[in-house]
Amino acid sequence: MDSSFIVHRSSFGEKRLLVVALDGATFDLIRPLAGRGELPCIAAIIARGHDALLLSTVPAITPPAWSSFATGAPPEEHGVFGFNYPDARDYSLRLTVASDLQRPTLWRRLTRRGFRVLLLDVPFTFPPEPVNGCLIAGFPLPSAGLFVYPPDLAGRLESAGIACVRHPVEMPDPATTDFLLWLDKFLDERLSIFRHLSAQNPWQFAMIGTMVLDWAQHALWRYFDRRFVFASEPEAPERRGTLSAIYRRVDRFVADLLEIAGKETDVLLVSDHGFGATLHYDWISEALAQAGLLFWRRGGRKLAATAGAAALKAVRSSPRLQRLGKRWLGDTKTARTWARRARAYSQIDWERTRVFPAGDYHLNLYVNSRSRFARGIVADGADYEKVTGDAMAALETFRPPHHNQPLVRRLIRYEGGARKLPTRVPDLSLELNTLPMPVESKSVAPMAGICGFHSPEGILVSSATDLLGSDRPAKMEITELAPAILRYFSILSRDDEPPAPRSPSEPLSPEQSAAVLDSLRHLGYLD
Ligand SMILES: [Zn+2]
Repeated sequence: MDSSFIVHRSSFGEKRLLVVALDGATFDLIRPLAGRGELPCIAAIIARGHDALLLSTVPAITPPAWSSFATGAPPEEHGVFGFNYPDARDYSLRLTVASDLQRPTLWRRLTRRGFRVLLLDVPFTFPPEPVNGCLIAGFPLPSAGLFVYPPDLAGRLESAGIACVRHPVEMPDPATTDFLLWLDKFLDERLSIFRHLSAQNPWQFAMIGTMVLDWAQHALWRYFDRRFVFASEPEAPERRGTLSAIYRRVDRFVADLLEIAGKETDVLLVSDHGFGATLHYDWISEALAQAGLLFWRRGGRKLAATAGAAALKAVRSSPRLQRLGKRWLGDTKTARTWARRARAYSQIDWERTRVFPAGDYHLNLYVNSRSRFARGIVADGADYEKVTGDAMAALETFRPPHHNQPLVRRLIRYEGGARKLPTRVPDLSLELNTLPMPVESKSVAPMAGICGFHSPEGILVSSATDLLGSDRPAKMEITELAPAILRYFSILSRDDEPPAPRSPSEPLSPEQSAAVLDSLRHLGYLD
């Protein structure tokens, strides 16, 4: 028998770990709020335990980051780079789901060792995989089809009088009071599920997720970050108050989860990325277009682009127009919408484009290579090398208008095309500098609803100083957590990794896939 993995039966059944997955949570908000006594539960865990920055994946997007948490592997090993990827036949965007993972998840490995698990709303767990316990899949989810394991779980909860709706992909506007009312009810419902399942199916590893901080920050960050022009708008103090209230509500949710889990339970609070200033996705396309690598179709759309760009330029250069306030903002939005539509993904000219961004905030880039895409124009070998090098040089040197800093902070070359990998694997992935919008130029505001963007620095808070080992680093990589949690459960090696499930228990229909992509578009994840 291979002695490199040993389950210490003496500890089996005694240890209990609760992981709370707070998508997008950042110390930039937690520290000041906790300092003012507004997050009593999280502050208490930090005070008696340990906290560290948790560094995200490149790109710092929800699916690859949570997949790296779940598998302990970087994106090039687990194979998930974003919400979607371009189809090799017609460039249409295809949805990535958890069954695309090429490495087994933490819960699959715990299941294999006989540990009992409970997963509720953990992001990127659809379609649900079989576990030794219960799994209610998290965002993103289609609006129909199985989202729980065991398959009768939702029905069982409903017949016990407990609402078990699927994690929503839409919600009220976080700037309105409706949001807080909705959140209150939603978190209470999730708490009822956790309470019921904990009583019925005692667990050793539980993980509960929520997307609310991520969604609220995408909408409200611009009022929080004082470098944004929006932070001095009349409505800003109220919006900042709403964001604080959302954090306070999440703190209470964590407190309630801990109470249900019991005093002896160890706790980790984890986020997949932090938050920072805006991302203007158009800049990525702009850098590629300026280098002659990306082209849009000519024709009617070009006229719209020219008109839109001219209107935008006029507004940008005119202080008088800028003083026109709300009305001006409306006009600028129209101009921007027109300009953006003309440069949409659907308008890319595949006959001339050599490198293009696809979906997911444009952070994954693909070489339009002949061996990979039906209408590819870049040959393998020297041509591929030259195009990739040109794209890297263009992106590394590009500075957005009004900024002195480069747009790109880190660039990873995955060479998916050169290695003939599935089109899920991009050729390049980007990490951007978090650039604020300069005060004088409201007109470069990004897409509706997306005014704050992910930063690579997520959070890690553990309830005990030695929970993840004896050293207490100030920074950890998100890939380090799965091995640390396995060690916590005395699982000491990866030698007997079970295979990753290769096909979903119930494959997504084209309609389901389209519905999820639509909802992602609605949330502003895609253009
Ligand atoms: Zn996220």
